[in-house]
Amino acid sequence: MIFRRISKSLRRQDWVTVLIEIGIVVIGLLIGLQINNWNEARVEKQAEYKFLERLHAEIMATQDDLSGFSKIVETRASELEATVRVVFGSDQEVELTGDQCMAMFLSHAYNFPPTDLPTISEILSSGQFNVISDDALRAALSRMGQINARAEKTSDLFNASPLNLPRAYPELIRVDYVLNADGMETAADNGSMVQCDLTGMRLSQAFRNDLTINLERYIAYEALVVDRLRTQFDMIHTELDRVLGHTHEGNAP
Ligand SMILES: [Zn+2]
Repeated sequence: MIFRRISKSLRRQDWVTVLIEIGIVVIGLLIGLQINNWNEARVEKQAEYKFLERLHAEIMATQDDLSGFSKIVETRASELEATVRVVFGSDQEVELTGDQCMAMFLSHAYNFPPTDLPTISEILSSGQFNVISDDALRAALSRMGQINARAEKTSDLFNASPLNLPRAYPELIRVDYVLNADGMETAADNGSMVQCDLTGMRLSQAFRNDLTINLERYIAYEALVVDRLRTQFDMIHTELDRVLGHTHEGNAP
């Protein structure tokens, strides 16, 4: 329609009208392009928001798992510290508790904490990391990738040369698999029962050396692997809350 009018004006050599009509066409095109740009930006923003919300839910679930996991590690570390005090202590009346004996039995177990984030893995593997527009959050996430990798390496180092006390000192830490009269596992402790010979432990310098080494190693594992990952996830959560405008009233994890 407008083009017919322009050609009519051209034929009449009405240059002012031609210019005005061409101007209208150009402005119309520009407005159309701009609306298109706005739409694209809105769609991208929505996709980013959806992605960040999914990531937020994953981070919260991982923080839950991590917090349960690190409580177990923390308890074992303090049981081990208490155990060392009992074994090295001069008070002959103090006995080892069942939990302390179990802590020695498992003092070489350095499991990797649960830190699975499918959304991040998906984004990293598809090379779409730039979907996140916030620079600080993007930097925090890539730092998390590095810290995760470093924690995995550290954990591998610990696991490469475990000092297994019940294997090295079977006469001092004995494990029995308890079956009931029907030949079935008993309910308690999944059927296994650990017993410690405290007098023997106190008399063996080799055992006391190895117990001290395992305590130091366990504390290092707690600090370098478990705590470091937990701190990192807390930081990512804070960044995500800032970007998404979330608040967790009173009970922020
Ligand atoms: Zn949050």
